[in-house]
Amino acid sequence: MYIIIFGAPGVGKGTQAKILTSRLDIPHVSTGDILRDAAARKTELGLKAKAIMDAGELVPDDVMIGIIRDTLNQERCAKGFILDGFPRNINQAAVIDKLFTELRIEKIVILALEADDEEIVSRLTNRRACKECGQIFSIREIEEISNCPNCNATGSFYQRNDDKEDVIRRRLAIFHSSTKPVLDYFEGKRVILHIDGLKPVDAVSEQILEKLNNLNF
Ligand code: AMP
Repeated sequence: MYIIIFGAPGVGKGTQAKILTSRLDIPHVSTGDILRDAAARKTELGLKAKAIMDAGELVPDDVMIGIIRDTLNQERCAKGFILDGFPRNINQAAVIDKLFTELRIEKIVILALEADDEEIVSRLTNRRACKECGQIFSIREIEEISNCPNCNATGSFYQRNDDKEDVIRRRLAIFHSSTKPVLDYFEGKRVILHIDGLKPVDAVSEQILEKLNNLNF
């Protein structure tokens, strides 16, 4: 199954993609993770991308298109994937549509996770990441613990620059002006499933799996 998980920053795309990855046995391709990994390794791409990500802006299309082309051509993506973070604007949508045709991928499902902006601001400003493994937690989850629940490193958690309120508001503004029109681009052309992203994590996953099960392709 070929899935694009779509929605505003902070709506829970990454969380749901990770769950779906294990339930459907297809890889999670996150362009944000690819860029953060490059930044952590201090590659030329990573260093350039970090400054852009920290400001909440979008990395140039030519860079992103190169990354997505390379990734989707990998063997691990041949039988399906969950694409998270791409396409982010109409130009990227047109490019990936062409790429799908080239790769003979027809049955694409777009999962559109929906949530209110103020809920997103509140969720994201309450997130912290482990300095060691990068895993994200809510402040409440790590309130009373000193070791990371994921990698067990002696807890040192930080707020990602792109989770600071002014940056989040900038990212939401870009989502509304550049990214949301991607749904209009695919409307009537591809299958779009609308999902209520405000429910608890498990309820959102169940909603997604049920809607995917009901698809007749
Ligand atoms: P994410 O983890 O998907 O929220 O992505 C984090 C940051 O990576 C974004 O705020 C952008 O700066 C950058 N990024 C990720 N995917 C893309 C994309 N498709 N186009 C442009 N920039 C991207």
